[in-house]
Amino acid sequence: MDFQPILDDIAATLAADRGLHGQVASYIPALARIDARHFGLALTTTEGQSAVAGDGALPFSIQSISKVFTLTLAMQQLGEDLWARIGREPSGDPFNSLVQLEHEQGKPRNPFINAGAIAVADRLVSVFGHRAKAELLALMGGLAGEPIAFDEEVAASEAQTGFRNLALANFMKSFGKLDNPVDAVLDLYFHQCALRMSCVQLARAASYLCRDGAGICTERQTRRINALMLTCGTYDAAGEFAFRIGLPCKSGVGGGIVAVMPDRLTLAVWSPALDATGNSALGMRALELFVARTGLSVF
Ligand code: GLN
Repeated sequence: MDFQPILDDIAATLAADRGLHGQVASYIPALARIDARHFGLALTTTEGQSAVAGDGALPFSIQSISKVFTLTLAMQQLGEDLWARIGREPSGDPFNSLVQLEHEQGKPRNPFINAGAIAVADRLVSVFGHRAKAELLALMGGLAGEPIAFDEEVAASEAQTGFRNLALANFMKSFGKLDNPVDAVLDLYFHQCALRMSCVQLARAASYLCRDGAGICTERQTRRINALMLTCGTYDAAGEFAFRIGLPCKSGVGGGIVAVMPDRLTLAVWSPALDATGNSALGMRALELFVARTGLSVF
């Protein structure tokens, strides 16, 4: 299959809709000023084909897509131990919800809601100490094949306005479920959210997920990460994503979504305006068009 014409066609089909659906994330100024009309996509296949369209080469704030990579790093380091503190069930709640944490004594439902990613960050700080951010950058640079950096302005803004994440972290700390100081854990979490990458870099970086781990993690771990992306990667829209798209996906409030077709390809899309669940509205439409045109699905 030649994917370049398919991506070009999706970009052309959606061109008139750019910026029309949803709202750009406004909780920090650095995200609020992004032009809602950006739209890009890129893919890379197991056979070495790559394709890119629209703004696919433009870097943006990957936000919660980073949760896939910190989970990978934590699974590499901790194996089964990781799951003592983090569940594997969809939450059915918004990504930054506090309500389940109280009922479940500070054990987050899954590693992709904010509480779960903060718990993963805590484990990484235990393993790497002050080197945790550098280890994450090393992983990302290795996966993308070129240096990847944090956007320090976004990271600082996240820290200044991250009251809800601070609440989640303190809440878990009060249940004895974080080992490290809240400040150190959130410093890593806010920086991972502030990673700047393009769709091209993201598709390449995630490609171990369609290649049985490719030496980054084991085949079994890779299957588990894909399973978590399918069931939890898009928060309380995960059922809708499975229904309409049928691929493991991870989204971020920067408007990016990474999708995996195991043994075939990884695809990244970016369009900053979000729907009510915090997922890119046009990104989701682009993924729907992609699976309709290619017939790809895990089902
Ligand atoms: N920085 C955002 C937050 O912590 C990330 C959330 C997301 O991308 N869904 O609220």
